[in-house]
Amino acid sequence: MDAAELKRWLVSVARLTLTQKADLLRVLSARDDQAAVKDLVESRLGGLPVCPHCAGTRIVLNGSASGLQRYECRACQRTFYALTKTPLARLRKKAKWLQQEDALARGLVVRLASAELGVARSTAFRWRHRFLQLAQPVKARVLTGVVEADETFFLRSNKGQGQGQGS
Ligand SMILES: [Zn+2]
Repeated sequence: MDAAELKRWLVSVARLTLTQKADLLRVLSARDDQAAVKDLVESRLGGLPVCPHCAGTRIVLNGSASGLQRYECRACQRTFYALTKTPLARLRKKAKWLQQEDALARGLVVRLASAELGVARSTAFRWRHRFLQLAQPVKARVLTGVVEADETFFLRSNKGQGQGQGS
C-alpha cells in the first residue's frame, strides 16, 4: 500500500463506529501475535535445525505443518517442525500463546484465563498443563525472543510458576 492510499485508509478508519474499531483492533492484534509467535518459534528453533528424532543435521525443507516450516531429516527420513517433541506440539491457536503465557505468569485460574483469551475452558485447562510441562530449557528456546522484547515477561513467568492451581 502506498503512502497516499494509507492516508485515505486512515481517514476512513476515523469514521468507524466504536464497535467496528474494536473489531479492527482485534484483527490487527491477532495477526501481529500470530506472526510474532511464528517468527519467534521458527527463529529460535528453526535457524539451524537438528532432527529431534536422531539428532541428524542434514536437514531439508519439506512444506509446512501447523503454519510452521516443516523439515525432513536426510538420515532417518522423518519430518519435524520447530515444536516437535515439545509439549506445545500440535497445540492450535498459536496467536494466543503469548496471552496464555501471560495469564499463567499472573496466576489466573482456568475460568478467568478462558474468559480473557476467548477460548473454551477445556482449552485453557489443556494449555495451562502443557505450558507448565514445558521444561525451562525448551521454554527458553521457544520464548527467548519475548524476553528480548520485554525483559520483565520472563521474570514474571518464572515467578508465576506454582501459583494458582486452577479451578
Ligand atoms: Zn533424523
